[in-house]
Amino acid sequence: MGDCIFCDIVEGRIPSIRVHEDEDFIALMDINPLTYGHLLVITREHYPSTLDVPDRILAKALPLAKKLAEAATLGVGAPAFNLFVNNGPESGQEVPHWHLHVVPRKSPKELPHLGGGPADLTKLPFTAAAIRENL
Ligand code: 5GP
Ligand code: ZN
Repeated sequence: MGDCIFCDIVEGRIPSIRVHEDEDFIALMDINPLTYGHLLVITREHYPSTLDVPDRILAKALPLAKKLAEAATLGVGAPAFNLFVNNGPESGQEVPHWHLHVVPRKSPKELPHLGGGPADLTKLPFTAAAIRENL
């Protein structure tokens, strides 16, 4: 895959500070961390979105994220953490190579809250129906 910064990292063409490697994933320190200890778990293979990642790989991702989150929170002395994956540019994904963010948290004020508001209960059943139709 040309022009992919994370493929370059996997292949060692761009340096990275790694905390874990296995046959499917590399976990490394984020170069522009949201918080102290921010890690990325990236797939060795190039998959743009979660929808592209085979289930057998995804099934290993959350147990690994759990292990890394425990190590990261202990390592930096944070009592909490966020796990998240951006999928598509509209979600804020900047690097189109699958990665899961492990973000140790010491305070809810460290990052802006996503917010949200009360659902329109007259519309919610129709939204649910539109989702069910696509399952
Ligand atoms: P996204 O917005 O795609 O979900 O997140 C991309 C993440 O990759 C960002 O947190 C950004 O700081 C990180 N990142 C971008 N380029 C590099 C790099 O060359 N090395 C490392 N370690 N992280 C990177
Ligand atoms: Zn890639």
